Amino acid sequence: MNSPNPQDPAARDDSAVICSAKGCRAAAVWVLAWNNPKLHTPDRRKTWLACEEHREHLSQFLGVRGFLKDVVTLEEWEASAAGS
Ligand SMILES: [Zn+2]
Repeated sequence: MNSPNPQDPAARDDSAVICSAKGCRAAAVWVLAWNNPKLHTPDRRKTWLACEEHREHLSQFLGVRGFLKDVVTLEEWEASAAGS
């Protein structure tokens, strides 16, 4: 697969996509799209990034609060963002 290669430190900010879990430095493979109805309008989407290991933990965290809207792979997310 195409794992990010941090050869160029200056390019890290937009190329290396890191898991949002606290203390995790793994490359993200999942995008969790969520919305807090108390803070956000219904069509607004906040996103968390997750590696394979933390996808379930993070989606449960959002899921029990009723915030979780969608879980897609980073590839799919970027493809749909590029298409709109
Ligand atoms: Zn992680």
